[in-house]
Amino acid sequence: MPSHRIATSEIEPVKFEQQKSLKDLNWWKVGGSAQFFLQPQSIDDLIAGLAEARARTWAVHVLSGGSNVLVADHEISGLVISLRSLNRVLRSEVVPTEGGGSGRAVFECEAGVAKSEAAKFFLQKKLAPAVFLTGIPGDVGGGVVMNAGVGEARTPREFCEIVDWIDVVDTSADNDFPVRRRGADELHWTYRHSAGWQPGVIVRVGLSWPADPDPQVMEHVRDATRKRVATQPLTQPSCGSVFRNPPGHKSAKLIEQCGLKGLTVGGAQVSLKHANFIVNLGSATAQDIQTLIAKVRATVLEKTGVSLETEVRLFGFSSDTSTPFR
Ligand SMILES: Cc1cc2nc3c(=O)[nH]c(=O)nc-3n(C[C@H](O)[C@H](O)[C@H](O)COP(=O)(O)OP(=O)(O)OC[C@H]3O[C@@H](n4cnc5c(N)ncnc54)[C@H](O)[C@@H]3O)c2cc1C
Repeated sequence: MPSHRIATSEIEPVKFEQQKSLKDLNWWKVGGSAQFFLQPQSIDDLIAGLAEARARTWAVHVLSGGSNVLVADHEISGLVISLRSLNRVLRSEVVPTEGGGSGRAVFECEAGVAKSEAAKFFLQKKLAPAVFLTGIPGDVGGGVVMNAGVGEARTPREFCEIVDWIDVVDTSADNDFPVRRRGADELHWTYRHSAGWQPGVIVRVGLSWPADPDPQVMEHVRDATRKRVATQPLTQPSCGSVFRNPPGHKSAKLIEQCGLKGLTVGGAQVSLKHANFIVNLGSATAQDIQTLIAKVRATVLEKTGVSLETEVRLFGFSSDTSTPFR
């Protein structure tokens, strides 16, 4: 896919929605509205939105599947861009490799394609990435940002193992928005984080894995799904694990040891099923969830001496961890 460059002067003006509620665009089903909102239908649309936002000096916030963000209750000033319509699969096939062998299964897509689509492709080919991808919500681009993965010892178990390249709309240039390709080896991958592509918006992702089928893959996917259903509160709104696992510890275990399962603030509760999940009982606000997060952190620190860091990204807060840019 060739990189392309559009000068800001060539861009058609875009229409933004105003005061768009973000509740249905995040998995916790909380939060306020976006002052301005855009769901681009193409990468050119996205660039047009970014150009307009820059001209008006708006802060820009990016939302994809919304499965790892706590959206603030107030109106979020500036522009929120949802990548949900950048959802085209560009290539999904097995390609021959030099020197023979069974080839490589290649899946290339726009960043807003659901992870479940990638999982389906690898499952059809009976390939191992299907196992960890199944059950992680959200989109492929969000998976790259978070280096999403599972704790179990399996190969592969994180995005960094299956990503070949990403295309990023680079927002650091002064006059335009070049789309730059970054190879996976140019990025810095750590536990639930990737770096080396910011500031910008990931718009396309190339994944691949050796095409050596494993007849047991379907069984492993079923086992992984059974385990998730048994251990996670999947029928209640949540954003998965709230806290990162500190080195040498499991956050869920620490929270449970401190007797915090079931602790409730307003409509938010530490899940009775999985202590590292906070669920929305129906009427939670982002403030309820934030207060509960603070209580859990303070109690775990006081009782165990371990400081918990959030894995979920704060979206639209003054201490924003979803890195908005201008
Ligand atoms: C029930 C449940 C189970 C979960 N289980 C797991 C699990 O097993 N393992 C795991 O790792 N995670 C898990 N999660 C968390 C979440 O699904 C992952 O972190 C996921 O990868 C987030 O993807 P998303 O598209 O929803 O990203 P979002 O929540 O939309 O965004 C996450 C962050 O990435 C930024 N972002 C997203 N897309 C782009 C882009 N294209 N360009 C630039 N910035 C972008 C956003 O600004 C935000 O800061 C779970 C969540 C739930 C609700």
